[in-house]
Amino acid sequence: MQRLIYTIGITALMMGCSLMNKFPSENYYQFSYYRNYYQQNDSLIFEIQNPLKCPLRVSISSKDKELKQLVNLFDTITLKENSDTLLKFYFPFEKDLEINFRSVFGSLNKEIKKVTIAFPFCEGKTHKILQGYNGRYSHSTNYSRYALDFDLKVNDTICSADEGFVVGVIEDYKYGGSSKKWKNNDKSNFITIYHPHSGLFTQYVHLIHKGSFVKIGDKVRRGQAIGLSGTTGFTSVEHLHFNVLKPSYSGGLVSTEIEFCGGSLGKNLKYKDTVKNVQKESTITK
Ligand SMILES: [Zn+2]
Repeated sequence: MQRLIYTIGITALMMGCSLMNKFPSENYYQFSYYRNYYQQNDSLIFEIQNPLKCPLRVSISSKDKELKQLVNLFDTITLKENSDTLLKFYFPFEKDLEINFRSVFGSLNKEIKKVTIAFPFCEGKTHKILQGYNGRYSHSTNYSRYALDFDLKVNDTICSADEGFVVGVIEDYKYGGSSKKWKNNDKSNFITIYHPHSGLFTQYVHLIHKGSFVKIGDKVRRGQAIGLSGTTGFTSVEHLHFNVLKPSYSGGLVSTEIEFCGGSLGKNLKYKDTVKNVQKESTITK
């Protein structure tokens, strides 16, 4: 009998492990937007709507020869926050078209202001740095180079580093892992916030399943609780991956350096350093 219980126990444990690491087949997106195209008489018409409280750059592409020449003329369209656009082009070809839309956050015309921001956790809390700028484990691309990992545990509260608007939320993933497939496919829950006064974006990554307190369009204050930390996506330990980003000519957003309230420079924060959020003023202790 004891042996049977033991066997059942082992089986349950194994099932638990396989569930923990179940790689999701679904893909979730942090926002959606309306885009459409149709031919009318000799015209090709595009309709695009930006539902977000941040600028959105949309590019259109197609393998079709005639259409390729046409879309090369305007390349990327920048839509202001919460705006619609309708583009009409002379296009006298009757054919089935396959058109792809690609969207990225931010406007290249928006000036980026130098600001200091709060640490992305609750006022009064202390946390350790697990990975700093240019960390070899996962902070080595243009998108992640100046990210910081803080040692938040599962269910610890994440707070907005600055005031702004929520422009992206994914909270439907359940699992995480550290193998190659997790690294090569982003399956993490996260929140993206746009900060209009600085032009910067901040991202808070690896939240638990259904761990966001905010939704797209919400206005948030600096220090406001926005979600719960977790281990979804590519990670080997529980932590909060925090990234500050700005629009880039080379594509979407790129990671950028930041200074925290109280004078802590992100670039000086190294593995095992302890940082404290004190009344939204932050200090570093080695
Ligand atoms: Zn990280």
